[in-house]
Amino acid sequence: MLNIVLFGPPGAGKGTQAEKLIDKYELVHLSTGDIFRSNIKGETSLGVLAKSYMDKGELVPDEVTIQMLEQEVNKYTAPNGFIFDGFPRTTNQALALDVFLNSIGTDVSLMLALEVVDKELITRLLNRGKDSGRADDQDESIIANRIKVYNEQTAIVAEHYESQNKFISVNGVGEIDEITHRLFDVINNKV
Ligand code: AMP
Repeated sequence: MLNIVLFGPPGAGKGTQAEKLIDKYELVHLSTGDIFRSNIKGETSLGVLAKSYMDKGELVPDEVTIQMLEQEVNKYTAPNGFIFDGFPRTTNQALALDVFLNSIGTDVSLMLALEVVDKELITRLLNRGKDSGRADDQDESIIANRIKVYNEQTAIVAEHYESQNKFISVNGVGEIDEITHRLFDVINNKV
């Protein structure tokens, strides 16, 4: 299986690039943010809980997030692999993902980290907020908190994959197709 962790701060382009990668490599796209948003829409108890964190730009607690992710993975029988988008966001989540994937006989193949500077992220998120309807993309203080949470709690997850020689950094600035080709090149070299 080809299991890719697509990494990077909010607004780095993970969702956009994940769509390109799933088409090319026939992978399943699992975005924890999207799953939370669909629970909010469906007014489930998980959605109510997640919303209370997302509205502030804070992370949903690990235990809830990990359990939800594992349930999603288990919905697929014999996939070619997964793109994990927005997960893991803490070292605990990364450790749990390793244990879980090992238990089903697979592992993370590589982490692709999209690098974009903070100033560009804020511009991209505010632009996305104009049409996405996402409340957390429309408020500059929530955006600032999401970037702060990323720098304080999530950026360190890269070290987990660096120590396993699975971390690859990719320039996330440029035309969408240009960035997609950078990702294709890295994956094709690795597999
Ligand atoms: P995203 O769509 O990836 O930008 O995520 C939107 C929000 O969902 C984040 O700001 C968090 O509140 C929550 N979220 C998504 N993925 C995770 C995760 N792996 N761990 C904790 N919270 C998450």
